[in-house]
Amino acid sequence: MTPEGRDRESERVVLPDWRAIAEASDRQNDRDHQRMVAATRRPQATTVRSPAIAQLGPGDPLRLIPPPVAFEILFGLEVPRSGFVRCPLPGHDDRTPSCKAFADPDRGFHCWGCNRGGSLIDLGAHLWEISPRGAGYFEIRSRLAAALLGREGA
Ligand SMILES: [Zn+2]
Repeated sequence: MTPEGRDRESERVVLPDWRAIAEASDRQNDRDHQRMVAATRRPQATTVRSPAIAQLGPGDPLRLIPPPVAFEILFGLEVPRSGFVRCPLPGHDDRTPSCKAFADPDRGFHCWGCNRGGSLIDLGAHLWEISPRGAGYFEIRSRLAAALLGREGA
């Protein structure tokens, strides 16, 4: 091989492999795309669950009431299938629906705007600004029963 040929050979090795770079970039774009698609399939809105501060007893009839029904009765709101409504809690001027009433009573509700949520008892606690602990728990439960079951202390 002539010295000239060797130079060309080494030059070829030094040159970046554009095709490999382009392929790696495509693979990265695919991964990014897949991540974005996966993120839209698992919206945070359906995975977040607010831990209840106070929960209704397991045999309590109030526990069977789906949060959308409770929202409709307590706030006079029409809850769409998505469960998202403008937050009805005091102190939150919600311009876009960021509060979700889950269809499953065990999941309760969650507001992404003011970060409040939990069980029906927690909803009552925020609504009436009563502590959900001690005597407050029974006060909230009694008000919920009157509103949702139509009888005092039911
Ligand atoms: Zn809110």
